[in-house]
Amino acid sequence: MAKTMAVNAGSSSLKFQLLDMPAERVIAQGVIERIGMDDAIVTIKYGVSIASENAVDHLEDDEHITLSKDGKGKKYENVLAIKDHQQAINFMLQKLTDLGIIADFNEITGVGHRVVAGGEWFNHSVVVTDDVLTKIDRLADYAPLHNPANAMGIRAFQKLLPHALSVAVFDTSFHQTMPEENYLYSLPYEYYTRYGARKYGAHGTSHRYVSARAAQLLGKDLKDLKLITLHLGAGASITAVQGGKSIDTSMGFSPLAGLTMATRSGDVDTSLVYYIQEREGLSNEEMTNILNKKSGLLGISTISSDMRDLLDVQDTHDHAKLAVNIFVNRVVKYVGQYVAEMGGVDAIVFTAGIGENSIPVRKMIVDKLGYFGITLDEEANNVRGDEVEISTKDSRVKALLIPTNEELMIARDVEALK
Ligand code: AMP
Repeated sequence: MAKTMAVNAGSSSLKFQLLDMPAERVIAQGVIERIGMDDAIVTIKYGVSIASENAVDHLEDDEHITLSKDGKGKKYENVLAIKDHQQAINFMLQKLTDLGIIADFNEITGVGHRVVAGGEWFNHSVVVTDDVLTKIDRLADYAPLHNPANAMGIRAFQKLLPHALSVAVFDTSFHQTMPEENYLYSLPYEYYTRYGARKYGAHGTSHRYVSARAAQLLGKDLKDLKLITLHLGAGASITAVQGGKSIDTSMGFSPLAGLTMATRSGDVDTSLVYYIQEREGLSNEEMTNILNKKSGLLGISTISSDMRDLLDVQDTHDHAKLAVNIFVNRVVKYVGQYVAEMGGVDAIVFTAGIGENSIPVRKMIVDKLGYFGITLDEEANNVRGDEVEISTKDSRVKALLIPTNEELMIARDVEALK
């Protein structure tokens, strides 16, 4: 069976998942963090059954393999100097071989890469050509932290696995179906034509996955459904999906817009940004840093960007409670807006870290949406990370919990392009 790798390359990290396709079975997953440092951390999780018995008989002193609690998986860990992405990928592929996860590099026949910004050039996933790579480089203006790292990952894999099909899967492409009235800002039109100043959205692969899965779970054709998908993680966005197409989404030109996030502000009146900048004597860079890294749940609560911490202390800490309430309210407002835009909704779908795991946050949101005909089944909602319908049987509008799976979506796109 062909093995496909789904890759998410960041500026100093590289996450990957190796899948048997088309069986869609995960063989290994891992992450290399702190690339460029003397103490980079490599973690690879893999199944016991797939690792061949006689592999890994030559572990170095500082390498560790531990068995997972359920005894079904193993975890390889190592800390070592890794100077760049090329070396990181080389090490990882070599380790997959040493651990007996793959017999040799040629087993990997496809590599799908997450790319953050696809602009208006890419409305679906594509096989990487020189032209595609040039465009990803040029789109770095829209995602300066991400696209260069994504491109670096693509080039490094191409060097080591020249035989494998290389595919780019864009965060923005799912949202390319938004109509003009939703993607344009009320700014002079010339900025759109000159600079592509418009809404692009993000988390598209996640919204695409959970909306398709929701249709399957509801036993309906996606084309007949009006869905609102709530990707609530450290980064958070909401999408109105009508007939399988994104018609509006809460993130904007960049992933700073929309909801209150872990450390990102979400929507703010831009004149307020200038006002604060002037009063505080902040440079553009400093202000951008505050909006991206010091705002959101962290900024309001003053104590943590992690929803778990805030929920733990909300009864005794006013600012923690306020941050949770603001988060929930923003979500509810966006849902209301999208119900109005679509002229109704059949189901809302919760996903990502908070959406998948936070029982109280889901309850707070659904309770506020009773007006639209959604009723929470408290018992069904008492779960984490499973696929479940969390609304009552007689709820006119359904609420679903669907763990996202961007890696699977990436691997499927690779398969589809083979
Ligand atoms: P993600 O970006 O999708 O990985 O989500 C990460 C976020 O999920 C973290 O900021 C946590 O606040 C949140 N999270 C994870 N588990 C829980 C939980 N049990 N309750 C509340 N929030 C959670």
